[in-house]
Amino acid sequence: MVVQKTVVVGAGPVGALAAIYAARRGDEVEIYELRGDLRDPDTTLLNFTRSINLALSERGINSMRKAECPGLLESVLDETIPMYGRMIHGSQNGQNTQEAQLYDVRGRFLRAIDRSSLNTRLLDELESMPNVKFFFHHKLVGADFKNNVAWFEHLKTAAQQATSTTTSSGNREVEVKFDLMIGADGAHSAVRYHMMKYARMDYMQEYIDTLWCEFRMDPAPHSENDGFKIPPNYLHIWPGKEFMFIAIPSLDKSFTCTLFLPADGFAELDANPDRLVPFFQKHFPGVVPDLISEEALQRQFSENPHLPLISIKCSPYHYGSSAVILGDAAHAMVPFYGQGMNAGLEDVRVLYDCLDQFSPPADKEPETATALDASNYALVNGDPVARTNARARALDAYSALRRPDAHTINDLALRNYVEMRSDVTSPLYRLRKAVEEWLSVRVPSLGFATQYSRVTFGNERYSDVKQAVVRQSQVLLAAMLTSTVAAAGWVAWVVWRLERRSAARPSPSSVVGGFLGSVGKSISDFGRRLA
Ligand code: FAD
Repeated sequence: MVVQKTVVVGAGPVGALAAIYAARRGDEVEIYELRGDLRDPDTTLLNFTRSINLALSERGINSMRKAECPGLLESVLDETIPMYGRMIHGSQNGQNTQEAQLYDVRGRFLRAIDRSSLNTRLLDELESMPNVKFFFHHKLVGADFKNNVAWFEHLKTAAQQATSTTTSSGNREVEVKFDLMIGADGAHSAVRYHMMKYARMDYMQEYIDTLWCEFRMDPAPHSENDGFKIPPNYLHIWPGKEFMFIAIPSLDKSFTCTLFLPADGFAELDANPDRLVPFFQKHFPGVVPDLISEEALQRQFSENPHLPLISIKCSPYHYGSSAVILGDAAHAMVPFYGQGMNAGLEDVRVLYDCLDQFSPPADKEPETATALDASNYALVNGDPVARTNARARALDAYSALRRPDAHTINDLALRNYVEMRSDVTSPLYRLRKAVEEWLSVRVPSLGFATQYSRVTFGNERYSDVKQAVVRQSQVLLAAMLTSTVAAAGWVAWVVWRLERRSAARPSPSSVVGGFLGSVGKSISDFGRRLA
């Protein structure tokens, strides 16, 4: 039996899940991670380079479910807090207001999760697998994807540097061979960078004009909200036209809060720290000092970094049979749909569906691998060249399948910033949501559902969601236009009938009314026939 060696670069959530999938197939797996082990208390955590609280939803959950590791998903879900909707904060007549908007008419919900606890559970799972080896403090510095060899710098830890007697960095370079390299090394991916020298990759990146900064809202031990300062089962939003403030609950009963603000706004507040509290009091009513003290707000604003948001699109995601990029490395997106990590975890599931289809693991029976007949199956498992070719076909299929989906969710995430910071208060937005939800419950055969629930609570391809929502909008628009014209026609027809009864000669208005009336009557007749 030929054992494939898979090297995963990056031990974030996506890399860790990819390593689990590879190990479950029987591959020899090595994981190389730039930083130390996040389970080690001496390791610098990612707190200030990634949001520590994330919204986990169906796509991420489904990808962990499909990993088929007993107890893994349950232990991850045990550490989550359900969020049933958005809580929109504002003020009216000098009073602070809050209004809950449920995410889903059927009661489905998001789950707030601490990124490092999710990551820890995945790493623990890997630790228990005999065919997995970790290499922390290893930074990818070069790769030759034609000859399947890569170079990593083995970095000295801070403790080793402190006790070192030489002035040079003393880092060692190690050479690593592989059959398949999975690049899950984040938005500034080194795997992607080196792959670009081999693959004809289109690449586009965009920094949006918004930065983000994290704050912490402490627990309130004696509060009516079970120790939280505000109701825990919501994603709290203080919307603003050009900015917003959000809060996501944590298991320790604190909230992780994020300020999203254009770069100019941050620059102005940096230059004039005394404007920070008035800015919050004006735009985010009720936050300071009730939920975060003035001192804590000012301290956190100056200590915590103000980080950029990047959106990346590229294609293809692979080179030949030797490398593929997943997660933020392939499609970093702005965080406004809460899908970045979920889409990255879904990449893993889709990739392994493709590999199972074209290049199944040695112990799978041919009938479970739909694309292969028995002779092809034997070839793939017995002959390394055939196996390599089959993997190349699988990676080709993966890139082709995933590109429209990744590009779609990147676009939707950009668009959702507008929804979160201003649409949520618009009557038209609420009307449309109400109509779609009403139709989804009352007339399920029409297949109506909001875009949000399709993206967040289902596993339909993102590109299919987009098409379904366009079709749905056209139907809604046509229905609205038809009923408006029919109603106008009916009113005109009634006016015309009344005027005809009371006047011997028709007035000009009644002539117009007569015309509209007959149009209206025809439309209502047509409508009645359709019904
Ligand atoms: P990363 O988490 O970036 O991990 C990459 C790993 O690779 C790191 O451990 C890094 O140290 C390592 N690495 C980097 N370079 C090298 C190298 N040269 N050699 C070796 N190792 C290397 N997503 C959601 O689904 N829901 C949310 O609610 C959500 N909220 C967010 C809020 C904010 C403010 C932000 C910024 C993002 C949010 N996201 C959310 C997105 C989510 O954080 C990312 O999509 C997710 O972390 C990507 O995971 P990843 O494993 O692909 O990459």
